Amino acid sequence: MNLNHHIAGMPAGYLFAEIARRVKEYEAAQPDSRVIRMGIGDVTRPLAPSVARAFADAALGMATVEGFYGYGPDGGYPFLIEQIIQHDYASRGVSLGMDEVFVSDGAKTDTAALQELFSADATIAVTDPVYPVYVDSNAMAGRLGRFENGSWGRLVTLPCSFENGFVPELPKERVDVLYLCYPNNPTGTVLSKAQLQVIVDWARANETLIIYDAAYKAFITDPDIPTTIYEVPGAREVAIECCSFSKTAGFTGVRCAWTVIPKELKGRLPGGGSASLNTLWRRRCGSKSNGVSYPVQKAAAAIYTETGRQEIANTISYYQENARLLLDTLQKTGLKLAGGVHAPYVWLKTPGGMSGWDFFDYLLKTASVVGTPGEGFGTSGQGCFRLTAFSTRENTQEAAARVFDAINKL
Ligand code: PLP
Repeated sequence: MNLNHHIAGMPAGYLFAEIARRVKEYEAAQPDSRVIRMGIGDVTRPLAPSVARAFADAALGMATVEGFYGYGPDGGYPFLIEQIIQHDYASRGVSLGMDEVFVSDGAKTDTAALQELFSADATIAVTDPVYPVYVDSNAMAGRLGRFENGSWGRLVTLPCSFENGFVPELPKERVDVLYLCYPNNPTGTVLSKAQLQVIVDWARANETLIIYDAAYKAFITDPDIPTTIYEVPGAREVAIECCSFSKTAGFTGVRCAWTVIPKELKGRLPGGGSASLNTLWRRRCGSKSNGVSYPVQKAAAAIYTETGRQEIANTISYYQENARLLLDTLQKTGLKLAGGVHAPYVWLKTPGGMSGWDFFDYLLKTASVVGTPGEGFGTSGQGCFRLTAFSTRENTQEAAARVFDAINKL
């Protein structure tokens, strides 16, 4: 059989495999070292008790006649969608219809799958550095041309760096789709409402679709920073938003998320005419998915109870305190820093112009601390490094102190 040569032609999924290889080699050579992992963006705190209880009750209920549920409604159970609309949107002055929210098993699943709605030759733009899923999913669909000398022939990249304050300069050429992620992974930066308004206005003028990934919105501490792009006037006409319970409520292993596709959102069809993206996505999901399990959706709905909200807020505060600790300690090194305030990621410029990988090796060998080299997220990540706040308090304190000492030795 003939294979999808676009997948075969992808660069290897190298970043975390290479990190694991280097750490394994180091631990084998230094068996007494106590390595602290501050690299991968998985959470470490347990599920909120009220969430676990709702999960278990629903699972046990499935063994009874009255509590048994088979296939759920397309797009998610109304009991969950209602809570999402009320707490994540109405509370921010945004009104959404029940049929504009689609529950799924992950923001990764949805941000990767949404490209199925685009034409084969649609042009794609991403900010750089970037969460790699947006790029890889379009590359696998054959939309990005060839990968040569470290970049894709047909991908438009918008550099975000310390130099431009992590505010992307909009492309000169027209693009069909722009992926945005705020709070940003990996840089931990956010955009103000005014900055987002500029992008939304540009998207409206250019008929560009924005895919807005708000997986880290629970970390936003300033009430003036939008937690949803729909706080920005005009966004309903141009933006799809993907959100997740993964980082908000520790669901990385439970799996539940949602995507919003407003009814106003339209795209052009070949030969003229237009179609609603909401309709196309519902059609696509109906054919490709039977949704998320009933106990998982019950668990997700439990985060919106009074106790659930308090419990998940405590967990977010715990990670925010870790981020503050990292920032406070690193600030004393004089390095250039970003993020860590409205996001669980601290992004730093490596000392002495080291590459991210050289700094990775240096920290591993000098401090037994693992972070993520910026190069793994794109060209503009060169010479940068990401540390996460998803560790335990003890490990964060210890890692911050060790990194501080290691930098001072340079
Ligand atoms: N979006 C971003 C920006 C992420 O960093 C991640 C996970 O690290 C995801 C989405 C994945 O979310 P989910 O666990 O819901 O698939």
